[in-house]
Amino acid sequence: MKITSVTGICLRVPCAPIADALTCSQARQALLIRIDTDSGLYGIGEAFTYGAPLSAMKAVLDQQLAPSLIGQDPQYIEFLWNMLYWRTIANGRRSMTMGVISGIDIALWDLQGKACHQPIYRLLGAHSDHVPSYASGGFYAPGKDIDGLRREIEGYLARGYRDAKIKIGRTLDRPSAPLAYMQNQDMAVTPEEDFRRVRAVKELLGSGLMIVDTNASWDSVTTLSRGRELARLGVEWLEEPIPFEDIEGLARISRELPELSIIGCETQQGSANFSNMIRQDALHIVQPDVGWAGGISETLKIGAAARAAGRRISLHCFGSAVLFAASLHTAAAMSNTERIESEENPNPLKTDLALTPFETDEKMNFLVPQGEGLGIDLNWDKVASFSKDV
Ligand SMILES: [Mg+2]
Repeated sequence: MKITSVTGICLRVPCAPIADALTCSQARQALLIRIDTDSGLYGIGEAFTYGAPLSAMKAVLDQQLAPSLIGQDPQYIEFLWNMLYWRTIANGRRSMTMGVISGIDIALWDLQGKACHQPIYRLLGAHSDHVPSYASGGFYAPGKDIDGLRREIEGYLARGYRDAKIKIGRTLDRPSAPLAYMQNQDMAVTPEEDFRRVRAVKELLGSGLMIVDTNASWDSVTTLSRGRELARLGVEWLEEPIPFEDIEGLARISRELPELSIIGCETQQGSANFSNMIRQDALHIVQPDVGWAGGISETLKIGAAARAAGRRISLHCFGSAVLFAASLHTAAAMSNTERIESEENPNPLKTDLALTPFETDEKMNFLVPQGEGLGIDLNWDKVASFSKDV
């Protein structure tokens, strides 16, 4: 089997504004990558974009990565990953280039599953056929007060979720608050308002797991001064409190706030970088994004590094149905998987792109799709309707 074409498909769909500690998003986007072969089989992957220009990521694919893949055997995934990594070593290794490599890797695994007539998680040596989840939402939004946040969480509980994550940290209370650099500073709150939001959600969750995410907007001093109150309010996981570059700061937070599990970092990439953080005790739970950290192949290595150090892994996932399916297969193949993030903001790229919806049991464990490869069939009319020329 030989690769005959590699195609980037840019998707973008407007959405109602949602804000975290730093950014305000008014559209959802994804870079799908389709790899066709001379056998007639094709694979689909997704590069997560973190708001990067789709045109720039597609240019990296079209001009630098895709030409290396034409004529290659797509079943040599480990070879191809290393080939792409080394051929882009001078300008890549991280950021958009690693994001695009991630999407290619997912498409290669989809192809591998189709070629072997197996779902990916079974090819990887399955650990489970279902993955525990939590509802990820609780963003700031125009006109959304604490009652609005309560109604949102009540909706998740009514569907069977027990555990949830909300955003905190959209504050301008200190001179170094990074929100001050952002174009849109609407919806900022005070720290006290954030604590009230946390208290309201925890009242609804009861014994359920409560996660809060500052999107790296704090520093270690701020985290140490506010973390204990979060723990007192019942928060158990604190996600990416500070930027991942401050490994010493994360290690200090992990050491001095033992009542909280520090989880991260969705913006980190590559197994060597995660291993470095694990070795320095910067994280209790590792949280790579399959579409950004290096694909299925690299996420398995990150999971293995965590497992060797006695740490758990909980995959970040904030993309389309393609990335969610890839994340389910990857999570189901690792014995140290905790929960997977199930994003619940309105997102047509997740809910409308595949012909069959994702299924759960009554405890909101997601069932791993059982078809070949990723196990999902895309609605190509929807793909076309969400496509955007760049
Ligand atoms: Mg996060």
